[in-house]
Amino acid sequence: MEKIKMSTPIVEMDGDEMTRLIWKWIKEILIEPFVDLKTEYYDLGLVNREKTKDQVTIDSANAAKKYGVAVKCATITPNAQRVEEYNLSKMWKSPNGTIRAILDGTVFRAPIMVDGIVPYIPTWTQPIVIARHAYGDIYKNVEGYVKKGGKAKLVLEDEDGTREIEVFDYSKSAGVVMGMHNVDASISSFARACFNYALDSKKDLWFAAKDTISKIYDHRFKDIFNEIYENEYKTKFEEAKIEYFYTLIDDAVARIVRSNGGMIWACKNYDGDVMSDMVATAFGSLAMMSSVLVSPDGNYEYEAAHGTVTRHYYKYLKGEATSTNPVATIYAWSGALRKRGQLDGIVELQEFANKLEKATIKTIEDGYMTGDLAALYKGDKEVHKLLTEDFLKKIASNI
Ligand code: NAP
Ligand code: MG
Repeated sequence: MEKIKMSTPIVEMDGDEMTRLIWKWIKEILIEPFVDLKTEYYDLGLVNREKTKDQVTIDSANAAKKYGVAVKCATITPNAQRVEEYNLSKMWKSPNGTIRAILDGTVFRAPIMVDGIVPYIPTWTQPIVIARHAYGDIYKNVEGYVKKGGKAKLVLEDEDGTREIEVFDYSKSAGVVMGMHNVDASISSFARACFNYALDSKKDLWFAAKDTISKIYDHRFKDIFNEIYENEYKTKFEEAKIEYFYTLIDDAVARIVRSNGGMIWACKNYDGDVMSDMVATAFGSLAMMSSVLVSPDGNYEYEAAHGTVTRHYYKYLKGEATSTNPVATIYAWSGALRKRGQLDGIVELQEFANKLEKATIKTIEDGYMTGDLAALYKGDKEVHKLLTEDFLKKIASNI
């Protein structure tokens, strides 16, 4: 069989620990036998981030901007323990944070559903896509501790002059204070990314915030979404027979739980962080969640939503074979290959990405899976719990 040819490289961002091994196996077992794989390789493993003083992370994000499609392996975000373990000269920042700051945009996370793995909420028969704003709010905050008797004030300076707003008077007790921000440009690109994704996938879009309490901050998000919808998307949504609406976050949570799924749920940065873990777990497993960052200028970065699975990696280092679930990382690759195929007009590459996903689902539905899924499986097939590499080989035989 002749291998599928590519014309433009995919930006490949390698990572750490168990997922770094899975990364190599996926390429060897599932992709390279079928595709003449073309990538521009960046090693974001912690050893190389240290060696390059984290320049490699910045270079990889700029390459993603140049080529438009990237695929990223999970990476270690160093803490004090990692600084010691890897003998780091600095506690390097989260690579995801650095990449998101350069690309801007929205992270879309969708559960990968298979027969036999039943959501904890049985009415959820269709995936719920979380669209998480990837800029600002609590993730770019400043905060402080104020002693008893102190005061906290907010000072605003712009062309209208200087205003001072008292945040709190700590005369009765010491306490905490936080300042955070967002910007119209980023909120607007978040809104457009959500509207475009809804049109592409033909799904309803819900956006929820807390504008009844936050009458300027959250209200600004609501207004920007409404304005862009009315001016740019309303007709397209009507033609596509899909719906957009805004509701309060409490109402959204209650309605999501009662729903059958199938919608895109747009969330502010913090809400998206928390709700995507809740949604992923309710659908079965963190390892069954796909994730893509869509930037306002049309760049795509695909990744798995979980981490480097350190606990399994330490077992592997002791010589134990592990049954770590590679599905989310496979979907990162299939997502990137499909998008590359779409942008370059290579139908075979798009078809291969579809086949890879179908073969993955079929393998699980036939009863062959990793340990995390075996523990959840409620289907009627005999369950075969496989080691990671054997699971990948079984998928390859199904392609
Ligand atoms: P994690 O790697 O997601 O793993 C947490 C636990 O979830 C695992 O111990 C395992 O449970 C289960 N799990 C996650 N992915 C799995 C998979 N593919 N197959 C089977 N089980 C899976 O989170 P963590 O241990 O908190 O973090 C480890 C490292 O990853 C940290 O250094 C963190 O900085 C980094 N991290 C990176 C990203 C990213 O790059 N996107 C995201 C989050 C964390 P059991 O042990 O019970 O089997
Ligand atoms: Mg989270």
